[in-house]
Amino acid sequence: MALLQITEPGQALDPHEKKRAAGIDLGTTNSLIASYRGNELMTLPDLGGSHMLPSVVRYLDNGDVQVGQEAQDNARLDPMNTIASAKRLLGRGVEDIKVLGDQLPHKFVSPELSSEKGGMPLIEVASGRQVSPVEVSANILKTLARRAEESLAGGLDGVVITVPAYFDDAQRQATKDAARLANLNVLRLLNEPTAAAVAYGLDSGAEGVIAIYDLGGGTFDISLLRLRQGVFEVLATGGDSALGGDDFDRCIAEWMISEAGYEQQISIHQLRALMIEARAAKEALTAAEQVNIELEQDDFRFSGVLSRSQFDELIESLLTQSIRACRRAVRDAEVELEEIKNVVLVGGSTRVPAVAAAVGKFFGSEPLNNIDPDRVVALGAAVQANVLVGNKSDDEMLLLDVLPLSLGLETMGGLAEKVIHRNTAIPISKAQEFTTYKDGQTAMLIHVVQGERELVSDCRSLARFELLGIPPMVAGAAKIGVLFQVDADGLLSVSATELSTGVAATIEVKPSYGLSESEITDMLKASFEYAADDIQARSVTEAKVEAVRVRDAVENALAIDGERLLSDEERSEIQLVIEQLNQVVESGNTREVTDATEQLAKASDEFASRRMDDSVRSALSGKSVEQLKEEVQ
Ligand code: ADP
Ligand code: MG
Repeated sequence: MALLQITEPGQALDPHEKKRAAGIDLGTTNSLIASYRGNELMTLPDLGGSHMLPSVVRYLDNGDVQVGQEAQDNARLDPMNTIASAKRLLGRGVEDIKVLGDQLPHKFVSPELSSEKGGMPLIEVASGRQVSPVEVSANILKTLARRAEESLAGGLDGVVITVPAYFDDAQRQATKDAARLANLNVLRLLNEPTAAAVAYGLDSGAEGVIAIYDLGGGTFDISLLRLRQGVFEVLATGGDSALGGDDFDRCIAEWMISEAGYEQQISIHQLRALMIEARAAKEALTAAEQVNIELEQDDFRFSGVLSRSQFDELIESLLTQSIRACRRAVRDAEVELEEIKNVVLVGGSTRVPAVAAAVGKFFGSEPLNNIDPDRVVALGAAVQANVLVGNKSDDEMLLLDVLPLSLGLETMGGLAEKVIHRNTAIPISKAQEFTTYKDGQTAMLIHVVQGERELVSDCRSLARFELLGIPPMVAGAAKIGVLFQVDADGLLSVSATELSTGVAATIEVKPSYGLSESEITDMLKASFEYAADDIQARSVTEAKVEAVRVRDAVENALAIDGERLLSDEERSEIQLVIEQLNQVVESGNTREVTDATEQLAKASDEFASRRMDDSVRSALSGKSVEQLKEEVQ
């Protein structure tokens, strides 16, 4: 009998013939690709031996595209056609250009024209081409993939790409689009801090709560994870998408301008030169106690010495800002500082000694940095890619990420009903039942919102869709099941089904542009600040909705059966109570509205039971007991 080889689905047939998988850290400033070469996990260098690829792309007049160091080197000469930090624009809408675009030298296509092309901000480059941030990212991904293919001697079967924990739906979607454009098979998107934890989980295997402090060039992420039996659960995430090493550079540049006593308007050329010089000075100060700076650009001239302690002073408020975000994340994770066993440093900016010191001081322990903070994210992503592509690994692990903001629906009275709470582990699906508010209601508007506040007007609207074809029934009889599904990449789809007929409607939520981190932070802050007000607003609104429902039901019944079943006196008594209710619904507090509603319920109690008797009588009239028995069966 021939022996059949049996393998698990998705697993390589021959254990020695592994699939080629890679992890990609698509950074704002620098990008890296990592993979296993044989059994060795490593980031892959380019032909010149450099592992980091500057996330900079230059579009030349003749249609050529330069990516990485070459593009960065030419940035100063050709700023209009050289695009850096495209990640900041990824998944943003044309609206955002008004804010972000002002700080950039590029020529943006007008928002109206851009909206015709899918709402993405487009940059016009010298060759006349219009490029989107998705294309810029795709160029970076392609360059990295080519590097891997050369190094691994073959095409990639799958990649894991990392994204900041705070990336919203649109930003994640845009990252996936960029990968598709680069012809890559995305196994999944992974949060950057989670990837760092994967890398450390392998090396140390330590259990308990760990904090990942990631300060890159343009973004800051803080995440708290619980590591238990090889499972990473993200307890909380926080950060600031407008805080990073670039801001340190800006502090130095501003200091240079003020020291030089330069009072004219700084040109874009000068600013570029200043920022490049400032960055070099900052990086030098990591090892040196002081640095000499000389800069001449057009009519701007600076010559002087910057000491490390002066630099520490310049960035002090930025550090305080990042520590504040750490404190918030610890509170969100509901852990005590003492429970945090390890603090991991990620991102080039954690090399700044004052950063490491501030982090160590806040968490009360020496931060871990034995894996290169520039490479740790790509390495973790490669570990994950290797598992997902089907190469059997002993280190197989389940990864749980969390939602940064609650997702919910609008209910009567403009209230936001949370369906999935913030910091819930994803992927997740959650169903909730809703009902109709009016008799004979055949359609329902489903309004999906994101945020922590109680009122819809204070949350962010993600999508609206209609469920049509609900069979007419009395209010409250229809059952509408609403299902929220958030996949492993954090993308949301919502479906609504009328349960008796199966009529259904579904929507994929793809917001046209993303929320910035500071917006998220503001929304969270507001939810803390307004919590008490919100609860009060919610209870008043709920009481009013209930009052109106009861009143409408009674008025409806009066119109149908009032004359037949009630005396004039009884009718006017109920009318009087309705009047009183109407008055407090306009102006009253929760208590008054609830009381008046109860009064009306009491006053119409007798009427309700007469209607009940009446309908039973008419249902029974003229029927034999036998007939009734049949009907019941
Ligand atoms: P991103 O994740 O945004 O791509 P990185 O993690 O690569 O960013 O970090 C880039 C930042 O790290 C830049 O601001 C760079 O100046 C800074 N950086 C790199 N090396 C050093 C160093 N030796 N000292 C201080 N800052 C550094
Ligand atoms: Mg990074």
